[in-house]
Amino acid sequence: MRSMLTAFALGLCTFTALAVETSVTAPPLLTVLLSVDGRVSDPALAELKSELNDIMRDTGRRLDVRLRQQAAPDESFEDVVLVKLRGTCAMQRDYPFMDERGPLAWSHSTDGAILPFAEVSCDRIARSVSTALTVFEQRQADKYLGRALGRVLAHELYHILGKTHEHNTDGSIAKPAISAKQLISDKKLGFDVRDLNRMLP
Ligand SMILES: [Zn+2]
Repeated sequence: MRSMLTAFALGLCTFTALAVETSVTAPPLLTVLLSVDGRVSDPALAELKSELNDIMRDTGRRLDVRLRQQAAPDESFEDVVLVKLRGTCAMQRDYPFMDERGPLAWSHSTDGAILPFAEVSCDRIARSVSTALTVFEQRQADKYLGRALGRVLAHELYHILGKTHEHNTDGSIAKPAISAKQLISDKKLGFDVRDLNRMLP
């Protein structure tokens, strides 16, 4: 009986030690605060968070993606990126002709140094998504918009975390341009080793 108790106690100690070690080595936390100046659909927002978490997992960080109004005024952050979602972040029935040229998103820099602040054009991304959706996919149009938003945002986080204006080649989400099909494709899109090395925490 005595030896059994000892074994149990040892087991507990080991468990406790492991728990402490896990908390010490927890990956760094990156908070992404989204501010919205137009309408945003809930399914699009949920899919944006899911897609961004999926893509950014390989960078060795934990991600906390929230609307800016969900942050406390005096909240402090380990690391934070502010993102402004411009326009209407929800799919609409019709998209009248509009000049589609122009960036889907952009980050800001001062004297060449990239700031932790990005802007995303929901209108341009939604328009691009609308050109690629099949009739079947249109039933879940907002979900595909969210996936596209997550991919575009991951690209901007690459610039911000990697402190670089450079791009990568095809096959990486850090390439300079992404097609409408690739924005919504079921095929996973992510970073390669070169990108990940640039973004080391
Ligand atoms: Zn870029």
